[in-house]
Amino acid sequence: MTELRDRVQDVLARDACSGCGLCPRLDRGLEMRLDAAGYVRPVAVGAPAEVPDAARTFARSCPGVRVDAQRPAGSQRHPLLGSFFAVWEAWAVDSDIRLAGSSGGVLTALHAWLIDSGRVARIAGAAGDAARPRRSIPVTITSREQALAAAGSRYAPVAALSNPDAFAAGTAVTAKPCEIAAARAAQGSLGDEAPLLLSFFCAGTPSQHATDTLLDGLGIAPDRQVDALRYRGNGWPGRFAARSGDTEVSADYEESWGSTLGPTTQWRCKVCPDGVGESADIVAADSWVTDERGYPQFVEEAGVSALIARTRRGLEMIEAAIAAGVIAVRPLDIDGLASAQPLQTARRRYLLARLWGSALAGRRPPQYRGFGLARLGLAHPRRFAQVLRGTLRRVQAARGRRG
Ligand SMILES: Cc1cc2nc3c(=O)[nH]c(=O)nc-3n(C[C@H](O)[C@H](O)[C@H](O)COP(=O)(O)OP(=O)(O)OC[C@H]3O[C@@H](n4cnc5c(N)ncnc54)[C@H](O)[C@@H]3O)c2cc1C
Ligand code: SF4
Repeated sequence: MTELRDRVQDVLARDACSGCGLCPRLDRGLEMRLDAAGYVRPVAVGAPAEVPDAARTFARSCPGVRVDAQRPAGSQRHPLLGSFFAVWEAWAVDSDIRLAGSSGGVLTALHAWLIDSGRVARIAGAAGDAARPRRSIPVTITSREQALAAAGSRYAPVAALSNPDAFAAGTAVTAKPCEIAAARAAQGSLGDEAPLLLSFFCAGTPSQHATDTLLDGLGIAPDRQVDALRYRGNGWPGRFAARSGDTEVSADYEESWGSTLGPTTQWRCKVCPDGVGESADIVAADSWVTDERGYPQFVEEAGVSALIARTRRGLEMIEAAIAAGVIAVRPLDIDGLASAQPLQTARRRYLLARLWGSALAGRRPPQYRGFGLARLGLAHPRRFAQVLRGTLRRVQAARGRRG
């Protein structure tokens, strides 16, 4: 065992791994594989083959060890949504991209433009596996066609940083917030350039098994070949849709994400301080239409994303994309965005209670700095105590089941 492998083992033992795929880039003897519970985890497949300073890079970058909030100079800070320079509602001007995207197709439009304009050579992203559409895989996007093929959210495990291109010169990375936090923290140790980092709000990674359960419930049994599968897109929020031979099935967003996929998110995501992509340069989210109480309504219409510039570099890119006619924008009030994202705001508000509950039950969570969790949590002491007790009970029960 090396120091790095010991540290990876510790993260796995604490169930704190997010499945980001960074550690296989630090030790080529590790590989990301699906585990019995349906999450991707690092597995030793060969003798250690480490990059220089691997253990130290891991200690500051693995999202199962620590995550630090970013405070770029000159940015404003929202207590629940993090640092920002500007916030808009946005959508792809190209109607095919807007339709194909998860919400407004903004990330796909930016991908296509970044490549067409020569600003980057490639984008490390994620997409459905063409050979096995039930599965999601890291992909390298080098053309507009590939950008379109990768449009849409994959509500399933995919270790975006395990892509060997993720740290190559001239690459932009689009990935989940934990992956982007790891990529930013690892900068300098893997590749010399600081890549442009794009992300999206993330409620968490569901188990791969949930995709199979959903398909099974819709009439495509686990042993049947699937020819095409998408979780979102072709509308907003769009339907989960799959094809197997002559059989076509679909489910709306509430049935797919709300009832089947969402409830299976891994433990690390339940104690995530940053579902809002604080380490990214540019972040997209669903800009849900809300009812009079501010709660999201999932009614079908033309997609609209929320778009946040978190750094000056992100701001300059977005302004250039607007000027080039790639995306259209209108102003968005950040408090309005916060109230349309109740899962994100509640998770951050009571995260400290979950962390304490987890630690009291014997499961050491990752360390988080700069998120203001104490101030947020202790502002509502009664609810804080309820969440702490609930977490303590759940973690004790889970540890008991594992023996
Ligand atoms: C697991 C998950 C949870 C989410 N939770 C929320 C939430 O709580 N609130 C919210 O507002 N939005 C959430 N989203 C994001 C939302 O679904 C849209 O991605 C976002 O609105 C951007 O839409 P878009 O049309 O601009 O992106 P698109 O143009 O559709 O582009 C999306 C890009 O994201 C990348 N991608 C897709 N899935 C993954 C994945 N699993 N891992 C890494 N990269 C991926 C692909 O490379 C793709 O190009 C979540 C997405 C995922 C994958
Ligand atoms: S969170 Fe990422 S870096 Fe940490 S152990 Fe899991 S896959 Fe490896």
